[in-house]
Amino acid sequence: MKKTVLITGASRGIGKETARLFAINGYNVAINYNKSEDEAIALLKELETYGYPVIAVKADVSKNAEVVKMVKKVEQLFGKIDVLVNNAGVGNIKLFTDMTEKETDDMINTNVKGVFNVTRAVVPSMISRQDGKIINISSIWGIVGASCEVIYSATKAAVIGFTKALAKELGPSQIQVNCVAPGVIDTDMNKDLDEETREGLKEMTPLGVMGEAKDIAQTVLFLASEQAKFFTGQVISPNGGIIT
Ligand code: NAP
Repeated sequence: MKKTVLITGASRGIGKETARLFAINGYNVAINYNKSEDEAIALLKELETYGYPVIAVKADVSKNAEVVKMVKKVEQLFGKIDVLVNNAGVGNIKLFTDMTEKETDDMINTNVKGVFNVTRAVVPSMISRQDGKIINISSIWGIVGASCEVIYSATKAAVIGFTKALAKELGPSQIQVNCVAPGVIDTDMNKDLDEETREGLKEMTPLGVMGEAKDIAQTVLFLASEQAKFFTGQVISPNGGIIT
């Protein structure tokens, strides 16, 4: 029987590449999106062209009621969710003291509460099946911290803490919980950076380039695979060697 993956924030960037890679590798794929409906539908159509079983589901991960509906819909269509990729996230580059209360809340609600909401909706059926894999997307900044991305770094550090604790709680239920903490990846999240900043980030990266969304997708696929069956509570950081 085919396995099913639910990928949050799969309309663009890392989530989109992850959806493509899982489809190619034989999974039923649930593409979650929030604002980018056109992109999500375009991805759905692209994957359907190749005959892959795919669904696109709208839900704002920060809103629990929407998340519960989304998970029910995916489970109704595909029977169960074997792999959850908590990828949806937002950034905001500015000084900590310039972040308003609303901007701070929005970021925490998407990057942290969103991960809690989707995981809470998916885990009960994983526990009853004694099987499942949860892969959370954090960031290198959640490990080392980034100036002008203080709240973002804090949310991504929270995702790492969540991963480690949940791995301990769900290990006895044979559910693996791991985390990917990418370095700088060339996606929309970094599209507004000026050329000087982009060059600076490449210089900070020993391999001298920004990563591609595909690099992260491959790591996620590995963590979902049989080859990773002894991994849990781990943070893997594909980052071009960046040490800050
Ligand atoms: P991106 O290109 O900006 O895409 C972000 C995705 O998240 C979009 O599909 C967006 O969907 C979705 N999203 C945002 N808020 C959402 C919400 N409330 N509910 C549902 N979906 C939501 O960013 P990316 O670079 O691919 O980032 C993906 C993940 O990797 C994020 O968690 C990010 O923090 C992390 N990361 C990125 C980098 C990097 O350098 N790019 C580095 C480290 C970690 P809609 O457009 O449909 O709303």
